[in-house]
Amino acid sequence: MNYEKIISSVYQQLSEQNNYGNVAAYIPELAKVNGAKFGVFLQPVNEIGFGVGDYNEKFSIQSIAKVPLLALAFQLLGDNIWTRIGYEPSGTSFNSIVQLELERGIPRNPLINAGAIVLCDILIDCLNNPLDDFLDFIREIAANKTIAYNEKIAKSEEKTGYKNYAIISLMKSFGNIHNDIDKVLNFYFHICSIEMTCRELASTFLFMANKGIVPDTKTQILNSSQTKRINAIMQTCGFYDEAGEFAFKVGLPGKSGVGGGIVAIYPSKYAVAVWSPRLNSKGNSYKGLLFLEELTTKTAASIF
Ligand code: GLN
Repeated sequence: MNYEKIISSVYQQLSEQNNYGNVAAYIPELAKVNGAKFGVFLQPVNEIGFGVGDYNEKFSIQSIAKVPLLALAFQLLGDNIWTRIGYEPSGTSFNSIVQLELERGIPRNPLINAGAIVLCDILIDCLNNPLDDFLDFIREIAANKTIAYNEKIAKSEEKTGYKNYAIISLMKSFGNIHNDIDKVLNFYFHICSIEMTCRELASTFLFMANKGIVPDTKTQILNSSQTKRINAIMQTCGFYDEAGEFAFKVGLPGKSGVGGGIVAIYPSKYAVAVWSPRLNSKGNSYKGLLFLEELTTKTAASIF
């Protein structure tokens, strides 16, 4: 399969098309991002990867970081995490609070804000230095020691993330948050502030296409059953109330973030990252979704 040729032609085609949606202005630091940026990088397992456009520019990965967060909690605690979070799709937006009251503070899944916030609470209880330890973990799966938090973005969200304060307060009232809420949210906002290029993002997720093993270093992060489960959660929950649409049109497990990034996995074949900051009404990158739809259409290959 000549991925390079297909990626370049889809990129060209979409560059000429109108872009729609808005950058994530509810986080003031993200409102400053240039909505015209557009980059893609496809990293095959054990082959040289390639990119087009702004693929070497850093952006805020936001909710994409929920997947490494889940991987670390799953690695450390195994199936014990499922007493505190579910693994069903929510059918609601990433920052919705409505189900939480009915379901007594147990988030539907780890990829909505409520679920990732519970994961942060769980990890605070089992890591010595949560911020440093999480960064070490993400650097290990990325096989890249330069990955870092963006303090400005973390602070910007800490000042304005009222919805997340509401979500965590409600969960705390049900006893599903054990630590101080400011401490947990500080950790959560930091993991969301991590910056990567499309190239780095595709490499970071390659272990999810390789049965849980980082191809560069041969480090086993998850076993193959855990890898399958996280890929299944990405497939069913990675795009919130647009997860069905993503499965329908793209047919790969993936995860989006309000920084405009999307990463998708083709097990045993590749990880692909795309960045285009303008978001549709569900908080997912408008052009990013189109790009991945065209990719699996033109290659005539998806997991289905
Ligand atoms: N940090 C963002 C928030 O909590 C992440 C949301 C996202 O990327 N969907 O609102």
